Parts: sequence; C-alpha cells; structure tokens
Amino acid sequence: MLQQTQVGVVIPYFERFMARFPTVAELAAADEDEVLHLWTGLGYYSRARNLLTAARAVDAAGRFPESVDELMELPGVGRSTAGAISSIAFGHPAPILDGNVKRVLARYTGLEGWPGTSANQHALWESAAANTPPTRCADYTQAMMDLGATLCTRTRPACAMCPLHDDCAARRTGSTERIPAPKPKRERPTRETHMLMLETPDRAVLLQKRPRRGIWGGLWSFPECGLETIEATLDLLAGNHHRVDPVELEPVRHGFTHYRLLIRPLHVKLLTNPGTVSESATMGWFPLDAPIEVGLARPVTRLLDRLRTAT
Ligand code: SF4
Repeated sequence: MLQQTQVGVVIPYFERFMARFPTVAELAAADEDEVLHLWTGLGYYSRARNLLTAARAVDAAGRFPESVDELMELPGVGRSTAGAISSIAFGHPAPILDGNVKRVLARYTGLEGWPGTSANQHALWESAAANTPPTRCADYTQAMMDLGATLCTRTRPACAMCPLHDDCAARRTGSTERIPAPKPKRERPTRETHMLMLETPDRAVLLQKRPRRGIWGGLWSFPECGLETIEATLDLLAGNHHRVDPVELEPVRHGFTHYRLLIRPLHVKLLTNPGTVSESATMGWFPLDAPIEVGLARPVTRLLDRLRTAT
C-alpha cells in the first residue's frame, strides 16, 4: 500500500499511464511491453499485468461487472477492491476492508492481536458487513476510507474529532496506540544471484524477458545464473564473441516480501559486436544510449544507469 508521502510521487506516472490508456478498450488493445514500460515508477508490476488482463476480459465481455462475485473473477481484484468498486461505482451495499478500514474497525471493536490472523480477518469482515448500510453505500465506503486516512491514523489518531468517538472501544479503553497489533516479525532469508551484464563495443546490452510467473514477471532483466554456471552461461550467451574477463561490480540489494535478494552484477565486455546474433521475443540487444521502452525491474534500471555513467 502507498504511504501518504508517496502519493504525490506516483501521480505523474499514473497520469502518464491514464493519458495513454484513457479507456478500457485502449488498454485492452495494448502490447504488454508498452503497458509494463509505462507502469515504470508505479511499482508492483503484477498490478500492471493484472490490469491488462482484466481490461481484456472486460472488453471481451462488453460490460463492466457490478457484483462482488463477478468483480472478483478479474485478476488482481480481491474482496475488498471488488467491494469498493461495487459500492462506489454502482451503489451496491458491499463491504470493504482495505488497510485503513481495517484499522478503524479494529479500534472500533477493540480487536486484540494482529488483524491478519484468519480468525481476526473473519471477525473484521463480519464487522465490515454488519456496519455497511443498505443505502448511500458509495458515501459510506468513501467516508470509512477517508476516516482511516485522515483521523484514525496509525499513530496519534484524532479521536476528539472522530464521529465514532463515543462508541469506539479502543478510545474508551485508551488502547489506540496498541490496537491494531503489529504483524509478528520474522527473519527474511537472503538469496543470491549473478546478473550477467554483457556489453558490446557499440554500447548495447543483452536483456532477457522474464517468464510471466515469478518475480518481475514479464519484465526485462539481465540474464541470471548461479555461481557454478557463470562460465557455461557466458559461453552460451556470448557464443564466439571474444570477451574480457568479467568484472564484478558493487552488489545490489533488493527486498521482497518473503526474502532479500543479493544481486552480484558481472560486467562482461565483448570485443566484437554480435552482428546477426539471433534475437528472439524474449532476448535482445538494447542500445545503452537510447531510451529502453520495455518494463524493467528496478535493480536492472539502477545497473543500467551505472553502465551509462561509467567511463
Ligand atoms: S475514536 Fe479514535 S481510535 Fe476510534 S475510530 Fe475514531 S479516530 Fe479511530
């Protein structure tokens, strides 16, 4: 979820995306590489892929789904998002439970423990459904989201101004700083990979499109391999093109939800240009000094910038 301070940063990227794809039909007809490229700066590329797939499904169906069940069939649309669309766009009495609403309801009901446990999730959905009115659903949903974003903030909620002041369990018991309880911490393991940054004398680099499933799905990245397969992979990629020995660059660290990734970049200069080396839909040479108009994983963007500024 975006922090309030990040919203201003991403708005220009979002406006650029919306200017290019102002309708569902225009997004549905777009090429995935262009969509991922224009998503740069907005993070979570899986959202861009889901948005494209959903646009194609809606375009093919010829109508926008209204009910929560129908909306949840679209990729990337969970119960809370479906509820928000159904209530705000169509006025249906569908509950939502985004991060802000979860915090409001957890405090309002005095929920003990981390809200992410299945028992607490169940209790919060029950509460969300019980409190959703049968009429003016769009206003209610918007008000709950705004309440969480502006008054019932993570720290120091403005209880004196809150319309739920009198009935709020956490306010009455002085537990607003303790509720909701934080997620229990757990150690994330570190994994390592080597990225092979092949560069031609003409300053083109070899990039590979990643499989749709898995990390950075559908984005372009430097080819990767493990420590034991560096030489074999280089032979495969560089073919007969002579090369200087790989130079190990400063590692790049990247955090995922479940683990940390330590990237060890190896810069490999070819002594001849690849010429007609076969390219494919999933691998190609990209000039370093021209804009690369495909979706790129963030660490790859950083590594490309390093190569561009290297003397
Ligand atoms: S009274 Fe305070 S803690 Fe309770 S919902 Fe309102 S702002 Fe949140």
